[in-house]
Amino acid sequence: MALNKRDQENMQETNNCWPLASDACVVIVGAGQAGGWAAHTLRKEGFGGSITLVGDESWQPYERPPLSKSILMGSAEPLSTHLFSDADWAALDINWISSRRVCSIDRQAHTLLLDDGSRLHWNRLILCTGGRSRTLTPDGMDETCETLRTLDDALRLRHRLRAAQRLLVIGGGWIGLEVAATARELGLDVTLVEAGDRLCARALPPNMSSWLKELHGRHGVRIMLNTAVSSACKQADGSFEVRLSPAGELGETLVVDLVIAGIGMIANDELASAAGLACTEGVVVDASCRTSDPDIFAAGDVAVSPNSWMGRRCRLESWQNAQEQGIAAARAVMGHAVLHDPIPWFWSEQFGVNLQIQGVVCDADQLVTREMAKASGDIRAIHFYLRAGHLRGVVGMNAAKEVRASKKLIATHASPDLAALADALVPLSQLG
Ligand code: FAD
Ligand code: NAP
Repeated sequence: MALNKRDQENMQETNNCWPLASDACVVIVGAGQAGGWAAHTLRKEGFGGSITLVGDESWQPYERPPLSKSILMGSAEPLSTHLFSDADWAALDINWISSRRVCSIDRQAHTLLLDDGSRLHWNRLILCTGGRSRTLTPDGMDETCETLRTLDDALRLRHRLRAAQRLLVIGGGWIGLEVAATARELGLDVTLVEAGDRLCARALPPNMSSWLKELHGRHGVRIMLNTAVSSACKQADGSFEVRLSPAGELGETLVVDLVIAGIGMIANDELASAAGLACTEGVVVDASCRTSDPDIFAAGDVAVSPNSWMGRRCRLESWQNAQEQGIAAARAVMGHAVLHDPIPWFWSEQFGVNLQIQGVVCDADQLVTREMAKASGDIRAIHFYLRAGHLRGVVGMNAAKEVRASKKLIATHASPDLAALADALVPLSQLG
């Protein structure tokens, strides 16, 4: 949804909230990354009242990026994903209610109903309910395909991957590609099908989709574009016979031991919409993280926020946004002036390549490439995406330093000299 006049007027540090009384109660729903950072920030920034964090998972707040990488691979354990150490967590003095679901919000009474029938009072509420995996039940199957969203999913799948030899991944987005790379590194025979005509089509420009396809192909992942699953059947030995359907043709049949779908995320906004808050595939907030109710805020994957870099309202489904918007929402709740309008940034890791995407890379009219690899076979490069001469975004491959340096150029809408941009000997700091 494009930014409207009100969004544009509101893209400045604002807070129309009255300061929070020192004996007030703040309740946060969703103990993920955004919820964890919101709770942490409230306490660290001096809020002395009661903070309750309710989450339906059993784990302390944790980060999800390792789930499709080191946790799935078996090279890291759950504790390493926790946002805070046990000692820091205990010191925050947060009333953490785990394995409990919030069922409804009563905005008039300022209460919440939990799935054990208990009620909680709140003065201000922060919704950090994130999202869940979109599921798929192919024709002929009476169970949904495996999906990966939670630590419990990752632990179950890493066990199943160890027992499997042939994997079918459905969906050529981030989950699909990272799971395919991890499984291939574990030695599985991996096929990935993507319904669209290129990989990560919403997040990446066509040249990077092709680059990823080539990277996976080089490591032995069989990638099939314009392909979906038309039916599947579980065999007596536990394997799956899967019929694929390329557009307009009779598809081939694959036999695999495991099928994992990574076909997108659905925002958990039902709680908010049932309470009458404005929602459009997520909870609508302004740049100070406030929903259509001035006492209720939202942050992270569930929040639809105005973003001036994207030029529209959107959900930024990323680690950076979960942390920064969780912090921003807590500060707004405390009555501080807040402007949450980040230059989007996220990363992925596949076959030893650290891929970082910063800014807007899908609407460029010009691409400049800087190669930094010293030895042949090494991958180290950064792509600059410009529009009307201005740098809009970058994609770095093993180029974290250059991506960091590019942030200032993007933030200032710089129009750098193209030859200098391409020249690895010219420091990016000189191009502002
Ligand atoms: P979530 O992490 O989804 O947390 C929301 C929590 O709220 C969940 O625990 C949920 O169960 C709980 N909840 C929901 N409803 C209720 C309710 N009614 N009552 C109680 N609790 C409730 N981003 C990157 O930038 N780089 C990466 O490499 C990367 N890798 C990823 C890998 C995987 C496998 C996944 C799934 C995501 C990855 N992301 C990555 C995205 C990033 O992890 C998310 O954007 C981030 O986790 C969002 O945090 P959140 O707190 O908003 O939501
Ligand atoms: P995603 O990035 O939206 O990708 C899903 C892909 O599957 C899309 O290309 C989609 O095509 C395709 N698809 C949908 N239905 C399909 C079908 N029936 N058959 C074949 N392909 C189908 O979502 P995701 O990869 O599942 O990730 C879920 C969430 O985790 C997202 O929030 C993502 O940002 C996050 N995540 C992030 C990272 C990272 O940043 N490194 C890593 C893992 C996960 P269409 O676009 O046409 O629908």
